[in-house]
Amino acid sequence: MKNIFRLFNIFILLLIVLFIGLNYIYIKEETNFNKNKLQKLTDKTKYINEYFSINKAFIFSLKDILTNNLQINELSHPAYSEIKEKEDTYNILCVLDNIESSLSGIGKLEELDLDIVQELHSVLYLKPLFKTILNSMHDIQWVYYTSAKNFLYIAPSNEVWKKDFLTNIYKKESWTEASPSNNPANELILTKLYQDSAGKGYLATLSLPIVNNEQFMGVLSIDIGLKTLNSMIHQDNLSGELYLVNEDNEIIASSENFKLNDVLEQNNTTFELSIFNDMIKLVYIENHKEKTISIIKNSLVQVLLLIFILSIIYMLCYLIILNRKVEKLANRDSLSSLLNRRAMRRESEKLVNIANRYNQDISLLLLDIDLFKNVNDTYGHHIGDLTIKEVAKILSKNTRESDLVSRYGGEEFLIMLSNSNSKSAYSLAERIRKEISNLSIENTDLKITISIGCTEYKKEEELDSFINRVDLLLYKAKDQGRNQTVEG
Ligand code: GH3
Ligand code: MG
Ligand code: MG
Repeated sequence: MKNIFRLFNIFILLLIVLFIGLNYIYIKEETNFNKNKLQKLTDKTKYINEYFSINKAFIFSLKDILTNNLQINELSHPAYSEIKEKEDTYNILCVLDNIESSLSGIGKLEELDLDIVQELHSVLYLKPLFKTILNSMHDIQWVYYTSAKNFLYIAPSNEVWKKDFLTNIYKKESWTEASPSNNPANELILTKLYQDSAGKGYLATLSLPIVNNEQFMGVLSIDIGLKTLNSMIHQDNLSGELYLVNEDNEIIASSENFKLNDVLEQNNTTFELSIFNDMIKLVYIENHKEKTISIIKNSLVQVLLLIFILSIIYMLCYLIILNRKVEKLANRDSLSSLLNRRAMRRESEKLVNIANRYNQDISLLLLDIDLFKNVNDTYGHHIGDLTIKEVAKILSKNTRESDLVSRYGGEEFLIMLSNSNSKSAYSLAERIRKEISNLSIENTDLKITISIGCTEYKKEEELDSFINRVDLLLYKAKDQGRNQTVEG
């Protein structure tokens, strides 16, 4: 019972350790997870920032070329003379290496004002940079300049001589969101996502208004496809949802499904990284269920290891307790729980050696229940056994932890007292003898008496001789009429 209780205590203790361990592992993995997540998001932000910085640099370079040429006031571009007319539109296809760009406008060439002609000349100088942009940034869909004066210069070229296309360009977000009515500060903007009328799918546009001599001229635009934007926030095993939103929180890319014009609710945002002063934001919304699953998956090996180690500890404790039990069974007498004869001899041998080495006093008491045969004969074996148990209890009660108390024979007990001389052994023997004579056994009127031999160890004496001497003294006690202690 005691062992089971001890084992149960160990089990509870290990359960507590397991609980603390699991908690520790989870917290550690959660910290790792958050660190990892932050790292990934920061990397993504850096990448997106770089991508948009390059495009920003391109668009400002285009602006510089355009405004410089507008200020030169020269009508010098050689390609201008090749502009052709078609009904009430004019256009020219300019080829530079493998990139085609086209300039098209509404109206008749000879009727154009001088400032439009000058703008057309200036715009044609954008061609090399258009080519550079398209060659270096393969995923850019369109790069173009939309003039407030009804013309468009675009690369790659399109069927821009169609009048519809030219009029529709002024309905496009790249124009409407960037032009002064919606953008009075004439800042670089990123539009919301919209469907390209020329069939290149969903686009978001970086648009920069061009102002010359305080006069709004037009808008320079670079179109970026949804596929490119989505690839920037490619998930990389992040457990939550990733969004790229513009200034107005309109979603322009996401790891999740979304519709055009969807606005991201900000209240459940768990993480937000700003790019270009909030022009674009990378927003991460944690999916707590996925996060927990991911952390559990990452902790699995550690958890199994912990359970394995704790199981081993439990099994070891179980084995130790079992071993003690076996040891006890091997060393103890089952009826009285006192040391058995074999264990007594082994332990007393040790005590004798210690006594010899350290010159300590030890004494032996050999006790035998008087006329025990009669007890069995009169009351039966059960009462006999009970008597042995009761006597054993008295012996245990009157001795110290350091003494050896054994059931040496049937109703015979041998006690080795450490640090005890003959005198103190004798007084202990008498105390025991008296206590036993007062013992009453349940349901009987039995009077139990005991005879005791008592002697002190003689230095360097063999254990057998020591026991023989005490045996003789017990014999003498019996001989002298029992119920007495004989010291020698
Ligand atoms: P004496 O005073 O001379 O010692 O007389 P005694 O009757 O005690 O001595 P004896 O050696 O003749 O008898 C011992 C008896 O103890 C014999 C045996 O039946 C009994 N005995 C020995 N071991 C046990 C035991 O484990 N249980 C019971 N019930 N009796 C036992
Ligand atoms: Mg006896
Ligand atoms: Mg006997």
